[in-house]
Amino acid sequence: MTERAVRLIVLGKQGSGKGTQCVRVAAHYGIPHISTGDMLRAAVNSGSGLGARVRATMEAGELVSDDIILEVIRARLSEPDAAGHGFVFDGFPRTVGQADRLDEVLAPAAIDAVASLEIPTEVVVARIAQRRTCASCGRVYSLTAPPRVQWVCDFCGGEVVQRADDTEEAVARRLALYDTQTAPLTARYRDLGALVPVDATGTVDEVAARLIAAVDARLAADEVGA
Ligand SMILES: [Zn+2]
Repeated sequence: MTERAVRLIVLGKQGSGKGTQCVRVAAHYGIPHISTGDMLRAAVNSGSGLGARVRATMEAGELVSDDIILEVIRARLSEPDAAGHGFVFDGFPRTVGQADRLDEVLAPAAIDAVASLEIPTEVVVARIAQRRTCASCGRVYSLTAPPRVQWVCDFCGGEVVQRADDTEEAVARRLALYDTQTAPLTARYRDLGALVPVDATGTVDEVAARLIAAVDARLAADEVGA
């Protein structure tokens, strides 16, 4: 039996646990967890010509264009850990346009599954409203997992506070915007038969088990169809 590549995208609103679940899925399938933000930072630090263009864009306070993001992704996917093995994308694609471009980069291969972490807005709002962040180093705590000394950061001694954009209204506004922006993307992958909705309520272990089972089912269905 040949080991097949696993090409995944995980979609989820802020507070859905997306980053944590991407780490779990990457470890399970032995594939790299590719976050757009990390990748752009790595490109800048690499000192490559592409990295210099990314740095210039960021320093000018401009959004990095789809052209540059796709170029960074193409380079990342050709590295040995991803080439032939697959990947899990975290935070990409964000738009239908980016998804179309990604398909071109991957052809003749294709995305195997797009897992959508489904969680009720009120659960996320409650979760984020509990969040507290170190004003100095950005380390995240919560009312249920506070620093050892309240409210002093365990790592840097900074003050741990509720960020202004973590209030209930601010969170509700961001989530509504996310839903509006993401609806065309989820519709696109649903039409392609690649969308895998996953119930994201419960513990990290419970969600990870559901997510992996759903992706496995989708990969198995693909093999039958092939
Ligand atoms: Zn700190």
